[in-house]
Amino acid sequence: PGREPTLLMDPLYAALEHYYGYTSFLPFQEEIVRDILRKRDVLAVLATGGGKSLCYQLPALVTGGLTVVVSPLISLMKDQVDTLVTQGVPAATLNSTLPYDAMVKTLADLEAGRLRLLYVSPERVVQPRFLAALRESGVTLVAVDEAHCISEWGHQFRPEYRQLSVLKEQFPEVPMIALTATAIPEVRQDIIRQLSLADPAVYVGSSNRENLRYTVAGKKDAYPQLIDYLRSNPNRSGIVYFSSKKRTEEIAERLRNDGVRALPYHADLPDNYRHRVQEQFIRDEIDVVCATNAFGMGIDKPDVRFVIHYDMPKSLEAYAQETGRAGRDGEASDCILFYSPGDRRKNQVMLERDSLDRPDLYPVAVQKLNDMAAFCETTRCRREYLLRYFGETFTGVPCGGCDICLQPDEFIDGREIAEKIVRCISGLPGPFGITHIADILAGSKSSRVLARGHQDLPSYNSGSEYSSNQWSSFIRQLIATGYLDQSSGKYPVVTLNVRSRAVLSGGESVRLARPEDSRARDRGNGPD
Ligand code: ADP
Ligand code: ZN
Repeated sequence: PGREPTLLMDPLYAALEHYYGYTSFLPFQEEIVRDILRKRDVLAVLATGGGKSLCYQLPALVTGGLTVVVSPLISLMKDQVDTLVTQGVPAATLNSTLPYDAMVKTLADLEAGRLRLLYVSPERVVQPRFLAALRESGVTLVAVDEAHCISEWGHQFRPEYRQLSVLKEQFPEVPMIALTATAIPEVRQDIIRQLSLADPAVYVGSSNRENLRYTVAGKKDAYPQLIDYLRSNPNRSGIVYFSSKKRTEEIAERLRNDGVRALPYHADLPDNYRHRVQEQFIRDEIDVVCATNAFGMGIDKPDVRFVIHYDMPKSLEAYAQETGRAGRDGEASDCILFYSPGDRRKNQVMLERDSLDRPDLYPVAVQKLNDMAAFCETTRCRREYLLRYFGETFTGVPCGGCDICLQPDEFIDGREIAEKIVRCISGLPGPFGITHIADILAGSKSSRVLARGHQDLPSYNSGSEYSSNQWSSFIRQLIATGYLDQSSGKYPVVTLNVRSRAVLSGGESVRLARPEDSRARDRGNGPD
């Protein structure tokens, strides 16, 4: 009852119900499928769980012909193919892990036109032998999954994706769909250009996750903060992410000693061990996985109640992907990040080392790191910041689901503070870094200040009410909220912009995090 008879007659809905048992589409699926059936190129940016696979599978099922799916994730390919085969759909994979005779058989099936869906790795798809087979096979659709990997502006650049441009050259009349879960606007443009998509329809789903609550907590010794959280949220499943493999093991052990059912997970642990951790987590036999970013791909546990970042991730893409594993079931879930500015510096040093062989990738990586740190330093809504980063406008501030919107008391009117900073910078004989400016304001007698004679500047000691560290924090917050600019590069300097001048004219109210000890003072529990 209640089902519209016209829908029953629509062959697309009939196929949706026949193959999947669904009676309606998720957002954008129907538009995408209809565009593909009209042979239009498509770029689909849909969040994880948004139903991307149906977007190319359903056209493959209703039109016949062959759909080639390019994917870098061998285990996910295998899962999808297994499911399709059990449903009676002729599907196969081609990748480097396949035994030789299986590969020969698949190529024969391909050339004989016996396959409906073929999943193939990016390295394989561009091989001349494969392209020749493809020409025989009557390919009708090409789907490129994880398409952000093609862009150096993305967070998971894979050089082998660059060669995919050959597909449009060789099959210009075959429609192509590119899919990804996260892509900042630059990456979207890059995907379209690199794959030579022809006037594609672009669909960007919202990446807002309403049931996730975002919190950034100052990190001193993070362990007590972690154990406090776990003790006040017992019997709940969650992931704690670390940047170091060693730390996953250390902290998991410490947690076990403190009575928490926790196990570590990282790439160097044996396959069977990792597999067991995953299984135990899914079956609720353990509560906490202490993991590096190797954990999470393809793990579909709906009731992950928290994702904690013990260390800051390298980009907001990584952060969004990892926090996105919380609350798949739609129930309220926590995303907590322990932040210390030292983590940003540590990350930058690692980037410098890692980029020795690809120095051209360094500026983008540093920019991503700075954007990540700015998210931690911001005094505006974190949800708004995150969504804006991915090119989405969010109009729901206060969002009711981030530490900043939920605890306005933690912030002060920073107009005078901002004014002092701006005056100090404009009185400097040249551009300087955060620490130097903070030292001048706090009246520090550091050798760097004295060596330059900066103790004679009018701003010297004009902010003696706060420590140098507090001034550094204020400056970083002003950078994060756009009142100051910071150059990237090895020795970043702070400069004024249009908005800093507005601070001086007194028109702008500037929100800053209430500094630690003034917090104690105001509550009357400071040192006597
Ligand atoms: P993605 O690849 O975007 O992360 P999937 O293709 O894995 O998403 O789909 C996510 C989940 O949504 C799967 O469990 C899938 O079966 C389900 N799903 C997809 N399309 C529909 C639909 N039209 N109605 C209901 N569930 C759907
Ligand atoms: Zn908010």
